[in-house]
Amino acid sequence: MTGRYDAVVIGAGINGLVAAAELAGAGWTVALVDERDRIGGFIDSGQLTRPGFTHDTFSSWHPLFVGGGGYAALGADLHRHGLEYRNTDGAVTASASERGTVVAYRDPAATAEALAHPADRDAYAAMLTQLDAWAPHVFRTLSSELSGRDIARLAAGAWRGLRSAGLRELTRVSLQSGRGYTRERFTGWEADQLWIPWLLHAGLSPDHASGGLMLPVMAYTMHGLGLPVVAGGAAEFTAAFGRLLAERGVDVLLGAPAEAITVSGGRAVSVRVGGKLLHAGRAVLASASTTDLYRELLPADAVPAAGRAAAARYRPGRAAMQVHVALDAPLRWSDSRLDSVPLIHIGTGSDSTGIACAQAEAGLLPAEPTVVVGQQCVLDPGRAPAGKATLWIQLQEVPYAPAGDAAGQIDTSNGWSDEVAAAYVQRVLSRVEAFAPGLNSMVLAVAALPPTALRAANRNAVAGDPYGGATELDQSLRLRPGTGSGHATGIGGLFHIGAFTHPGPGLGGGSGHIVAQRLISASRSRKSRSGSVVPV
Ligand SMILES: Cc1cc2nc3c(=O)[nH]c(=O)nc-3n(C[C@H](O)[C@H](O)[C@H](O)COP(=O)(O)OP(=O)(O)OC[C@H]3O[C@@H](n4cnc5c(N)ncnc54)[C@H](O)[C@@H]3O)c2cc1C
Repeated sequence: MTGRYDAVVIGAGINGLVAAAELAGAGWTVALVDERDRIGGFIDSGQLTRPGFTHDTFSSWHPLFVGGGGYAALGADLHRHGLEYRNTDGAVTASASERGTVVAYRDPAATAEALAHPADRDAYAAMLTQLDAWAPHVFRTLSSELSGRDIARLAAGAWRGLRSAGLRELTRVSLQSGRGYTRERFTGWEADQLWIPWLLHAGLSPDHASGGLMLPVMAYTMHGLGLPVVAGGAAEFTAAFGRLLAERGVDVLLGAPAEAITVSGGRAVSVRVGGKLLHAGRAVLASASTTDLYRELLPADAVPAAGRAAAARYRPGRAAMQVHVALDAPLRWSDSRLDSVPLIHIGTGSDSTGIACAQAEAGLLPAEPTVVVGQQCVLDPGRAPAGKATLWIQLQEVPYAPAGDAAGQIDTSNGWSDEVAAAYVQRVLSRVEAFAPGLNSMVLAVAALPPTALRAANRNAVAGDPYGGATELDQSLRLRPGTGSGHATGIGGLFHIGAFTHPGPGLGGGSGHIVAQRLISASRSRKSRSGSVVPV
């Protein structure tokens, strides 16, 4: 370790990993720093319940990574270093409730066939056809820095591609809630029950604006890319990244926090880690929370007014909880089609998810939560011993500091105590058992990560929020709580990346990729003008 680098990257989550690998691939010397003793942030797996059962501790599903710029740049090398995906060609996701079961297949036509009303089958096809036209504009927006020039270029492209009426409709739907979207377009309950719970994975609730666009984008993505999981568990992904970083000469410094970013002459020049200074000759990239970046890492007198405002107005989103279950045998669902579906939601769509979100927002444990049931063994049977299985259960409607229980059964006066977590897990398992008889008798072991445990595992899960800040429109796109000016911070050479910045949460690695590519192309054009390497 030299202590002198072209770039110092703080935080080894997906965005830090992508940025470090891309910068090093362009010949930069890079240090990647994380206070944990491993890389990956919210990507990890382990035998969390019993020996032989491999659980993805946090994130699991990689469509965003496979569809993103980071994968386009690094995927071939990651595969060379051992990354393998397991995916589905058939059933991809489903939803079950007292109203019935709806299954989505990779094939949109097979999915539409299950909708009872003939008009809904046409509406489903029309939804995806419309997304075909919108997709280039939507995905370009999500992969762009959104500078003033970018916005002008994107708007001109959208105008050329969609003309006035198309652009107006895209804008209208972007402002619509998911509930509004399904009510407007579908007669039956199926499309709403199937796709509304997916909005939770974008940090939204059924009544948030922008759900109208996110819902068809989710459906389009699932039909197009499926739900890839990492063969052998998510830790194999970070292992492949580790080998790639080593090959590219990145110094990975683990186990000590970045304590401060030194600013001199308006530029970020070094990062203090464990009392030692790492000099950053060209750039510092910080995958820190907005509040940590502007209130802890930077000296107060160096923070521009925009940074202070960003920290002041930042608000976290709803908290989440993760539950891992080792099963004596694979679940047998009442509707046997669900046996082979990788990811199932339990709930009625806008109705039950809307109520559960409202209860969580009010500080209550939901009486009837939307349960996300991941069956990774369907795609990757080696995750459990022969004849057994794992469940990955996600709950995205929980309060960080519970003030009560909407069902009036669990005493929450001691917060997320082990007893409260166990009682809530039991409610959740019983809810799943209603559709998968015998579940409770098949449970061998459970490991629960309430929101407080997520926060303890990763300081960026502020208030147990898994998504780096509320994702409502006022904290999205260019308004994502960085500085409101993209990834630049107003301090020379310092860039904010990670879920707190555009394009937001998920495993896309988008902000790491955008900033790395921007730095690489800026330094190339400056180098070609001046003949030498200069800071950006
Ligand atoms: C339980 C759960 C399940 C999820 N499931 C999925 C899924 O299946 N698919 C999907 O696409 N998304 C999923 N997500 C969302 C996704 O995992 C996150 O949005 C994404 O991983 C965030 O990446 P990031 O680059 O912002 O960094 P993070 O993963 O948040 O990592 C940030 C890293 O920075 C480090 N750090 C922060 N500050 C400092 C400092 N000062 N010094 C040193 N180190 C520091 C932290 O230790 C951490 O390791 C899930 C999230 C959670 C919590």
